[in-house]
This record gives sequence, C-alpha cells and structure tokens, in this order.
Amino acid sequence: MMQWLREVSRRVYRSIVEMGRIERSVHVGASLSVADILVSLYFGRGLRDDGAPTRRDWLILSKGHAAPALYAVLAELGVIDRSLLPRIRSIDGLEGHPSISIPGVDVSTGSLGQGLSIGAGIAYAMILDGTADQYKVFVILGDGELDEGQVWEAAGTITHYNIYNVIPIVDVNGFQLDGPTEKVKRKWDIPGRWRSLGWRVVECDGHNHSAILDAVKAAEESRRPTVIIAYTRRGKGIGRLEKTGAQHL
Ligand SMILES: [Mg+2]
Repeated sequence: MMQWLREVSRRVYRSIVEMGRIERSVHVGASLSVADILVSLYFGRGLRDDGAPTRRDWLILSKGHAAPALYAVLAELGVIDRSLLPRIRSIDGLEGHPSISIPGVDVSTGSLGQGLSIGAGIAYAMILDGTADQYKVFVILGDGELDEGQVWEAAGTITHYNIYNVIPIVDVNGFQLDGPTEKVKRKWDIPGRWRSLGWRVVECDGHNHSAILDAVKAAEESRRPTVIIAYTRRGKGIGRLEKTGAQHL
C-alpha cells in the first residue's frame, strides 16, 4: 500500500512540475508540499460519496494556490482528463485556483482563510443529519494562511459546537509568499494556538504516507475537534526549490 502511494505521489510530483514548466506562474513549491497529503487522502484513506451533501466526504483545499496538486491527483483518479493539465490557467483549460466548475473540486477556494468556515458549516449540517460519524470534511490550510483572522473565528466556533467531523490539516512548510514564515510573519507556537481554542492536536511528517494516514485515523476516531499539523517542505523533491522561498521553476 505505502509503496503504491509513493508511486502515485511520484507521478503527481511529475505532473506538478510539468504544469510549472508550461505555465510559469503556477505555485509549484506550495503544490509539492501538499502533494503527499492529498495522495494519502484520495488514494490511502479514500473519499466516499453516497450522493447527498451530508452523505459524502468533502475535501476543501483552502490553500487554493496549490491547485496544480489537486488537479494532478484528480487526473490520477481519472476524474478529470489528463490532457487538461497542460492547459492550466488557460481560458479553455483549468482555472488557476480550484473551482467547482471542474469535476472533482468540492469547493471553490483561493481567497485564503475561508475554507475552514465553509467546512465547519458542512460538517455541522452532517451533525444535524446524524451522518457525522460516517463522513468527514477535510480542510487543507497553509501555514501562511493562519494569518487570516477568519481561520481563528472558525476554529473557535468548531470547538464551541464540538463539530468533531471537520478535520483541518495544516501544511506547515515554513514559507509564505516569497519568504520564510519567520521573516514574513512569525507563527509562534502553531500547535499551542490551536490547543488554546480547545483543539486536540496531532502532528505528523507531511511527506510520510503512513504517518499522515495514522494522523487522519486518530482525528477521525476522536469525538473532539482534532487538527493535524503536517510538517512539510515547500518544493519537495526539486533541489533548487526545496525549502527555499521560490515558488516557480
Ligand atoms: Mg506555507
């Protein structure tokens, strides 16, 4: 299983880099950092869809600028046609940020900070419908995105109402915009910030599929809101991008 996930990830990495070569403005670094998380969720855990909004899993890529990673995974799944990938950010192709006009994209994102609020609303609807134990809402945020105040409004609301079936995963790659988070805006104690709002925190290596899946399992089994803090490398796998401020090839 893990060997297979690594192979899928390698193909996803390659697709991301190819998109970055064709359209130089796409965010290659941020896409590579989140690729293993997406592969673990879509291929390792698997997302269920039983045909109704509260009878399905949701995946919200709140850090929408990493759209190439999502598109590459959707192409691996056969949900979108692989021939669309080279047409990223072209008028007849894929939008630069996830859009619900694209098959397989659950929520339109890109304006940072909104995904967790959307996820909280969907997850609360599941609680009201009695489906919260079967289906989950995954929301993937960047560490830079934590600067958005709306993230913390949602975080406090989720714990207040114990909306335990929304699972945020923070892709902590240590960079935002064109610099290290320490320089652009220091994040201080990320796990501590979530804990202070009543969250349970699970930390993992965001490039190790089995560690990611263990963290997801722990979060799913919890009856309390649980956030996954995944430590990653921006530009993973590409020497001249890895752990640098560079986003583009
Ligand atoms: Mg980041």
